[in-house]
Amino acid sequence: MKVAVYPGSFDPVTLGHVDIIERSLKLFDQVVVLIATSSQKKELFSVAEKKDMLREVFKNEQRVLMDATEGLLVDYARTQKVAAIVRGLRAVSDFEYEFQMASMNKRLYPEVETIFMMASDQNHFISSQLVREVARLGGNLKGIVHPYIEKKLKEKFKL
Ligand code: ADP
Repeated sequence: MKVAVYPGSFDPVTLGHVDIIERSLKLFDQVVVLIATSSQKKELFSVAEKKDMLREVFKNEQRVLMDATEGLLVDYARTQKVAAIVRGLRAVSDFEYEFQMASMNKRLYPEVETIFMMASDQNHFISSQLVREVARLGGNLKGIVHPYIEKKLKEKFKL
């Protein structure tokens, strides 16, 4: 069985992420969405909230699993025996950071491959950061996040 891990902040999960996960399911038997907790970033949602949101969005897809880690991605990949790390690429601006990360992960754990998927046309402008900003100011997020995520954002910002 081929398992991929899709790591990220998912603060919150957007339809850009959902698209990458759905496309990954065509290549892998299972996709583990790995919520990586970063000490550097101030997050809007807790790990428990993120898990709940992901669970709701993928409630009809048994092949999508959720997990969280505070440690190194390569340690997770090694212990869970994942075949590949999946990442999404939007603009050129994503490339440099992703290239560095993939190269470092390859150095730390040569057996693991990082696979990149280009953002779909309709999603290339979507980022969690912009979603938080638009939500905070009461903007409409239809077609950008799942309706459940929009509801959770409204609750968070007491709109
Ligand atoms: P991180 O904080 O690690 O960048 P994110 O949750 O923002 O985590 O993103 C996880 C992965 O998904 C990254 O590889 C990112 O480039 C990708 N991604 C984010 N938004 C989109 C999108 N709209 N389309 C395709 N890929 C995306």
